[in-house]
Amino acid sequence: MISMDTLTIKTENKFRSLITKQAYKKGEVICEIPTEKVVHKPNRYTVQIGRDRHTNVGKLAALNHSCDPNVILDTEHLLMYACKDIEKGEELSFFYPATEWEMDAPFICLCGASNCIHVVAGARFLPLSTLEHHFLNKHIREMMIELLENTEQLLTKMI
Ligand SMILES: [Zn+2]
Repeated sequence: MISMDTLTIKTENKFRSLITKQAYKKGEVICEIPTEKVVHKPNRYTVQIGRDRHTNVGKLAALNHSCDPNVILDTEHLLMYACKDIEKGEELSFFYPATEWEMDAPFICLCGASNCIHVVAGARFLPLSTLEHHFLNKHIREMMIELLENTEQLLTKMI
């Protein structure tokens, strides 16, 4: 069991963020993703771990979104790992559409990254040309393929 002891929640003007108390190298596992309570509908504290499975993730609910993230949530293996070298004291963030298909509470991103997607609402609202630059979990890839196949069928019927 890899614990979350190295992570701490910072609250500033009611805005929460998750900070690491130690440095990580790119590719290093930071912690396991806890599956505290699995539900069938998303809310702002859950992470999607399967087609109809969303889980409360304890401390990790304080992770903010970034279009240029420094961690990856691998929901297939339930591990969070660094996708960049991370320094001690840095805020951790991940790309929400990598786990979320359709979010309960979409918002406007102001991360300032050159590849910012601006509207964070879930993977189903993003073009493939954007998604292909990101790590995507298995359930997101499967749902994307399904959406494309349905669209193709619909188009075929129209012709
Ligand atoms: Zn952004």
